[in-house]
Amino acid sequence: MARIVMKFGGTSVANIERIRNVAERVKRETEAGNEVAVVVSAMAGTTDQLVAYTRSASVMHDAREYDTVVAAGEQITVGLLAITLQDMGIQARSWLGWQIPIHTNGAHGSARIERIDTEELEKRFKIGQVPVIAGFQGLGPDNRITTLGRGGSDTSAVAVAAALQADRCDIYTDVDGVYTTDPRIVPQARKLDKITYEEMLEMASLGAKVLQTRSVEMAMNHRVRVQVLSSFEDKPGTLVVDEDEIVEQQVVSGIAYARNEAKVTLMGVADKPGMASGIFMPLAEANINVDMIVQNVSADGLRTDLTFTVPEGDLERAVAVIEKARESFPFDRLNADKNVVKVSVIGVGMRSHAGVAATMFKALADKGINIQVISTSEIKISVLIGAEYTELAVRALHSAYGLDASVA
Ligand code: ADP
Ligand code: ASP
Ligand code: MG
Repeated sequence: MARIVMKFGGTSVANIERIRNVAERVKRETEAGNEVAVVVSAMAGTTDQLVAYTRSASVMHDAREYDTVVAAGEQITVGLLAITLQDMGIQARSWLGWQIPIHTNGAHGSARIERIDTEELEKRFKIGQVPVIAGFQGLGPDNRITTLGRGGSDTSAVAVAAALQADRCDIYTDVDGVYTTDPRIVPQARKLDKITYEEMLEMASLGAKVLQTRSVEMAMNHRVRVQVLSSFEDKPGTLVVDEDEIVEQQVVSGIAYARNEAKVTLMGVADKPGMASGIFMPLAEANINVDMIVQNVSADGLRTDLTFTVPEGDLERAVAVIEKARESFPFDRLNADKNVVKVSVIGVGMRSHAGVAATMFKALADKGINIQVISTSEIKISVLIGAEYTELAVRALHSAYGLDASVA
């Protein structure tokens, strides 16, 4: 007997027929003698619709009320799944975040889970009841509903698995595992049997939305065994594991892309001490995350150009903050560009291999793609390029690192 957390994403619970399919899978695990807790997302498209409602009600809406609205999608699916399970003769009940509670901090819209009370869930396991838990939501210190940021049900599932000391956390989705890159844009993408926590963390944070970044962080910290698999097919998925569990490590394991980046270039910034901090401090104070940064060497020793990226959704605010700081840190011109994408190659094997960056730059050059900004860490290289080259670049890199599946 094992204790398993099963998480089902939006497409897996998109209608009643699919909810029935999910219930069948839950039934199978319970009939095999396992203790099962289920975590579900809202029906596909529902959360987008709810977010749109809050925006059209008011652009500058209260984040607490945003959470009240966008958490609603999961309330529907937990209830429907519990009803369906009961209809199949399985004891089940729905749980909203506040009912457990799943305690979070007060960062409405992107709250972090701090603690989960498991006492009641443990009691239910003892009487053979399946808890069906709403993903994405929790209870804040202000006693109000919080949400965990888009894609947050993955994090709910891993956090529940950690709190319940589950043997496994199975993330059921619309693909049958983690691929070398997004299979929707590269048909030759290959499914990975295993991926390390570190690589998965990079892949997620660099744009592969198959798992929310925080869910991987949490799995890594609490040593939760996570498996990503299909809710529509019966086949093994991808296991997220420690590095020593991978026998033959590729130099590059995957390629990710993130379209939600925006580039800001400040031209003619005075080349003197304190300039960068004068620009980046106000951005930090405004809670705007600056990602890639390049500062050019100044030709005349007086003025230089500075380029950096911010999340696309924060671009307007970032520009406003910089314009305000302009008095103390003068520059000639500001250029803002949303038409960019960040493409990254990821692999723990990079630590011990030379030439990985060179391969990347050559592959892009061969396709005539101009690189605007570069940033690296120990296990990844990212480049910023024009958004129109996304597919071309990802496919070219996928081939360049020998990741393409061989055609049968
Ligand atoms: P869910 O609703 O089940 O949470 P998501 O849409 O959040 O599903 O995540 C699954 C999607 O992630 C896939 O449909 C796929 O397009 C995308 N994706 C991006 N990169 C990858 C990757 N490397 N491997 C698998 N899927 C990926
Ligand atoms: N329903 C939420 C969203 O669409 C959470 C999730 O699906 O993980 O972001
Ligand atoms: Mg998701």
